[in-house]
Amino acid sequence: MTLRIGHGLDSHRLEPGRPLMLGCVPVPSDLGLAGHSDGDAAAHALADACLGAAGLGTMGDHFPSDAERWRGVSGHEFLELVAAKLAQAGARVTSAEVALVCARPRLAPFFAAMGEAMSAALATPPGTVTVTATSGDGLGAAGRGEGILASAVALLEVG
Ligand code: MG
Repeated sequence: MTLRIGHGLDSHRLEPGRPLMLGCVPVPSDLGLAGHSDGDAAAHALADACLGAAGLGTMGDHFPSDAERWRGVSGHEFLELVAAKLAQAGARVTSAEVALVCARPRLAPFFAAMGEAMSAALATPPGTVTVTATSGDGLGAAGRGEGILASAVALLEVG
């Protein structure tokens, strides 16, 4: 058995008129994340961290954003698809953390639900995925509230 670590990064713009889905959880907000899919930057960063740790490439390799098949697909479904690829490769997620830069809305009340939802989507025990966030202190696009930036690390057992 080998331990492998992966890191994923993703960001999406915040726009009016879209629901905010983050970490596979709907978050009340007057702005939502734009994107070809549902824009769930937290789920996408986590998916990339898992794929990378397993040596399976990137989200872009498996789910290209110019393909009609992936239009509007939820972060939950992407994580389920990634979980199936990990299982096929004999890899198991033992722990993961998603760190968000988000000026608005306040996400702390949703950390537990996001972690549970993403753990479930990966078919891992509750508590496998944890979530944290920082406001960004007004710095950069995410810190100014123009979008949300997600960074994720995942630790996998392989073999
Ligand atoms: Mg994305």
